[in-house]
Amino acid sequence: MPHDATPSPGPILSVSQLRKHYGKTAAVDGVSFSVATHEILGLLGPNGAGKTTTINMILGVLEPTSGMIAIDGCDLARRRRQALSRTNFAAVYAPLPGNLTVAQNLRVFGMLYAIPALGERIEAVLAEFDLLRFRNTKCGVLSSGEQTRVALAKALLNQPRLLLLDEPTASLDPSIAREIRAAIREFAARGHAGVLWTSHNMIEVSEVCHRVLFLSHGRILLEGDPRALPGEHRRQSLEDLFVAVAREPLTIRSAEAD
Ligand code: ADP
Repeated sequence: MPHDATPSPGPILSVSQLRKHYGKTAAVDGVSFSVATHEILGLLGPNGAGKTTTINMILGVLEPTSGMIAIDGCDLARRRRQALSRTNFAAVYAPLPGNLTVAQNLRVFGMLYAIPALGERIEAVLAEFDLLRFRNTKCGVLSSGEQTRVALAKALLNQPRLLLLDEPTASLDPSIAREIRAAIREFAARGHAGVLWTSHNMIEVSEVCHRVLFLSHGRILLEGDPRALPGEHRRQSLEDLFVAVAREPLTIRSAEAD
């Protein structure tokens, strides 16, 4: 179980030469990167760049065409159960069943992860995300901010080493989005864990992520500190750089080579 597993000294996530082809389309085309302990890595790129395909391969939902994924030292292809027991995920497009209460949802997911002393663990995440008063409320009637807090509580139930967050603050008002960012930063800072975060909000990315990768057409085009990258590529802001990468990736790549 993740609680008892001895932390490996290497990266939390290691992705090597990952590829996914759909016929002649290379959705992910030879991507290599890692996420270190305590690190929040931003995975950026325009629609169709290959972010979701990459995340789905790390979650074990999609089989890579080739390449290697290791989570906390466990090769996903060979030690799938151990690797995935150390992983969790939250995304707006994957809401929890709305007809179950908050506590029922946490119990179902906790049982799927075979979490020991599940009752205590549920109480802990309910308290952590200020959800105690909603324990018997059906998820479907909660506000989007409350639903996001439940999704994060579920994502932290198994005390994952690797937390994948796909647009975790989309559709939240600024004050709730700020609370969510603070909770994720605290999670990354205190545990033996790393976070892979996708977002289209470049201000948020600059604030939260220690490092970012820009994907374009399934390849990593740029990588670095989101606060330093715009200046290195003669752009005013991360958003300007994002737009440039989306519109003219070849120009960016040749500037990089200069
Ligand atoms: P992103 O999440 O960055 O928007 P995706 O990973 O969803 O990008 O898609 C990357 C590319 O792979 C796109 O060109 C998309 O059309 C293609 N693609 C994704 N899933 C499939 C699929 N099941 N069959 C064929 N092509 C796909």
